[in-house]
Amino acid sequence: MERVVVIGGGPGGCAAALVAAKQPVEVVLLERADTLSGLSTWCGQMMGWGPRQEAKLMGGGDNYGVWESLEMDRKSDFGVPDGNITWDVTKIEDASQRAMAEAGVKVMLRARAVDVVMTGSKVEAVVLADGTKITGDAFVDATGSCGSIEMCQQYGQGCGLCVLKCPMYGDRVSITAKAGVPDVPGQPGYIHSNLIDLQSLSPQLRRQVEETSGGYCYLPVPEELYRVDMTEDWPRPETAFMTRWHHEEIEIINVHFAKTHLVMPLKYIHRIPGFEDAWMITPQVSTGEPISSKQPAPHDNTLLVKGLDNIFAGGLRAGAYSSGQPAMFTGELAGHNAARKSLGRELLELPLTTIQGFFIAKVNKSKTPTEWPPHQKPDVVFEQNGFTVRRVTDYQRIKESIVDAGLVDVYQRKLA
Ligand SMILES: Cc1cc2nc3c(=O)[nH]c(=O)nc-3n(C[C@H](O)[C@H](O)[C@H](O)COP(=O)(O)OP(=O)(O)OC[C@H]3O[C@@H](n4cnc5c(N)ncnc54)[C@H](O)[C@@H]3O)c2cc1C
Repeated sequence: MERVVVIGGGPGGCAAALVAAKQPVEVVLLERADTLSGLSTWCGQMMGWGPRQEAKLMGGGDNYGVWESLEMDRKSDFGVPDGNITWDVTKIEDASQRAMAEAGVKVMLRARAVDVVMTGSKVEAVVLADGTKITGDAFVDATGSCGSIEMCQQYGQGCGLCVLKCPMYGDRVSITAKAGVPDVPGQPGYIHSNLIDLQSLSPQLRRQVEETSGGYCYLPVPEELYRVDMTEDWPRPETAFMTRWHHEEIEIINVHFAKTHLVMPLKYIHRIPGFEDAWMITPQVSTGEPISSKQPAPHDNTLLVKGLDNIFAGGLRAGAYSSGQPAMFTGELAGHNAARKSLGRELLELPLTTIQGFFIAKVNKSKTPTEWPPHQKPDVVFEQNGFTVRRVTDYQRIKESIVDAGLVDVYQRKLA
């Protein structure tokens, strides 16, 4: 039986493996650490902006389903079905392992790929740190984009090791670079979230976060703080308020800890009402762009790595995305196309009318359309208890684009 080998067990690799396993191929998932899930142990937040709904219509979405199965009982979707969720990051390992076992994926932990065996531009095998060769017909590089330690020093200008799990298991290895295709160079970066001890917020704010908002909310940034000159402490002060959509709100997500996109020295965070005594669970690293979106492998819109025959980029290896959802949808396409490649089938490219296809082409800078797909834009913005809430709810339009493109159940249709 043909074999697909996925390297890296983060959200991208897990999604790739689960989708590849729907086809008549053997799927092996290699992970250097002793748990699956990669950086998703720091996530806990999944936005309702459409790719998840597309993936499910396409017969995929299994790894999104793993996250959904861990949704916390506090209601965070503000009554919009299938909207944003917060999920319990502490349970991800068991849930991922169960999903892999049910799908028949062979998981190898403590299996760090360090090299490749090539014939011309075809990868024949990856070589593990202990010398074992894992052969395959097609491969997915889903090793993420954090590390090596050299990269942390270069782009992060500080230590993010406790988040990025580098020292225990050895550095990340770019498998596609080993296969002779250099990564796309990155820019200076930072770890894009601060994880703040929930207990260190003021009792009033904590109550708001826990009870009123349901664990997922936005607070207005005090205007006077927004104007504070941080130049002395911060190399790029314009990046200090890393709220996702604009600079007027702080996003707080309650997933056992309080997660924010406030990336700035603690002494400034202390000026925000409710954050006076806040302290962080993770160290802070920053100069500009997210460090977790560096050094993707160059690829085409099928995610086939340029210049190579049979290795695909999945997850953050596929581009400068910043969250788990693009990691999963690129993982799914990479896994599916790796199965297609193994079985001698034509590769799938998602059309620009889909959210996923649009983002892959956009990030890839191959065909950047001027207009965003209309269903990508949040269509609900409302105030609730002082919090601004945004949601994508027009699932009918999302559905139409998948139906019109003939992609319904495409990941499930047997290729052989
Ligand atoms: C602090 C923080 C908070 C975040 N919060 C959110 C959030 O709330 N919601 C959200 O959607 N996203 C969030 N993200 C982003 C999200 O975590 C990433 O987008 C996602 O994890 C990327 O998935 P990936 O599979 O591409 O890479 P990773 O998660 O980095 O996984 C890569 C995997 O490959 C393994 N690996 C590396 N090298 C090798 C090798 N040589 N051999 C074998 N295995 C290897 C690694 O050990 C790792 O398990 C956050 C990120 C950070 C850092």
